[in-house]
Amino acid sequence: MDTYLNEKPLHIHWFRQDLRLSDNPALAKCAVNGDVLPIFILDDCNAGSQEPGAVSRVWLHHSLLALNKSLNGALRVFKGNPIEIIPKLISETGANGVYWNRCYEPWQIERDRIIKLILRDKKVECESFNGSLLWEPWDILKKDGTPYKVFTPFYRRGCLSAKEPRVPISPPADITLSNKKIGMNDINDLKLLPNLRWDQEVFEGWDIGEKAANLKVIDFIENRLYDYKDGRNFPSKKNVSRLSPHLHFGEVSPNQVWHTASHPKYMNSTGLDHFLSELGWREFSHSLLYFFPNLPTESLQTRFETFSWIEDLDLLVRWKEGNTGFPIVDAGMRELWRTGYMHNRVRMIVGSFLVKNLRLHWNNGLDWFWDCLVDADLANNSAGWQWIAGCGADAAPYFRIFNPVLQGEKFDKDGIYTKQFVPELKDLPNKYLHCPWTAPESVLKAANVCLGKSYPHPIVDLKQSREAALKAFSDMKASN
Ligand code: FAD
Repeated sequence: MDTYLNEKPLHIHWFRQDLRLSDNPALAKCAVNGDVLPIFILDDCNAGSQEPGAVSRVWLHHSLLALNKSLNGALRVFKGNPIEIIPKLISETGANGVYWNRCYEPWQIERDRIIKLILRDKKVECESFNGSLLWEPWDILKKDGTPYKVFTPFYRRGCLSAKEPRVPISPPADITLSNKKIGMNDINDLKLLPNLRWDQEVFEGWDIGEKAANLKVIDFIENRLYDYKDGRNFPSKKNVSRLSPHLHFGEVSPNQVWHTASHPKYMNSTGLDHFLSELGWREFSHSLLYFFPNLPTESLQTRFETFSWIEDLDLLVRWKEGNTGFPIVDAGMRELWRTGYMHNRVRMIVGSFLVKNLRLHWNNGLDWFWDCLVDADLANNSAGWQWIAGCGADAAPYFRIFNPVLQGEKFDKDGIYTKQFVPELKDLPNKYLHCPWTAPESVLKAANVCLGKSYPHPIVDLKQSREAALKAFSDMKASN
């Protein structure tokens, strides 16, 4: 074991979901205290089934590379259990303290609680900060001290009437990075990339890291925010920010996004309020996860425990592969597979289709999204699925069943989005694009579409499956 006699006190900054230097409260505190040892630990020990999915791991790899570059190669990486690694690191380096920004996944909260106890017992300084939410969940409560379960009062009455979100802080001006040779400094050693390199195509369209995230914020606010309110509903339009993975990994903080968008220059943008309220949904999801830690696995409305879900592997596989015979559903599922992203409108359409038309448990959708999304986020993913399944806190009513044909006709009328991901229908007239099974044989032939061969027949009957879902719902209500 090396024992170091530090000339200046040494403090550890533990990077987690805050992979940036600017607006990083824990790093800022760490930097004023002496030398900084920046570390990242890949913790597959405490997460259980909630360890990052395959696509998230690839994003993480690139994000760590970018962070390490900003740190002039000083990032030290570890793989294992932080409960063991951090105390060991303290004794090996003689570090005086450890700082981090809080995460809100139940398993991380529990792990961090244990680490704090160990460090305090050893009289090592240890402090956590809010680096990833605009408002701490415990600061936004109803008058009676209980958490909000409905979004609008949570956001309007709770968040907006609370303190303004913190103004972002600059990156530490004179950070002295420790050059201790400890841990690993090759990110490749974390083995986050897949052996079979499927990731190259998925990641083609993404620039990863703090610098890219900041550029994206500015580009979105300057060029696309103005029409956000309406444009955000149309998957072929460029009016959404695509900031979700950057926010998840903390390459940019919500405070930076909030304050940049709220700058007086953009105040007249009609999209602003709406965009800020979407950041509010992110806060709401985190609050739900914090107060209801079973959100990822159990329906918040417990009556859904008696709901008659169907188990059918074949239907699930057809949904995952984007072979359902409903073009907008298939486009969404293929977009997810090809790019790691899916537009929010389409997430709702494919989600409703899975849990209502196919009546497969929402956990199936959550697991698939978890593995495939670049922005897979325990709070947003769980709240999103509970919302669409109608079993969450402030959920779309179960009887609101999205009709994929009407949704396609309304939100992708010209078929630009659908045809991009379902090219076998590219020559089908728009009139039939979202319901190819209604097209006359001659039209299908002219478009080179052979149902059952080049494109599947619908895997369910929309009307019957809708009625069956509604019946299952009313049976559940009657039995509760
Ligand atoms: P924008 O429209 O530009 O919104 C800006 C930011 O606000 C987003 O980056 C995101 O951080 C936040 N936001 C927007 N909509 C929501 C929302 N409904 N709930 C919570 N936060 C929101 N989002 C994730 O980040 N990770 C997930 O794993 C995830 N899973 C979802 C699963 C389902 C079934 C559904 C219906 C939604 C899910 N969402 C998830 C929410 C939403 O679809 C994405 O945040 C959004 O599509 C990301 O694209 P964007 O950054 O362009 O969003």
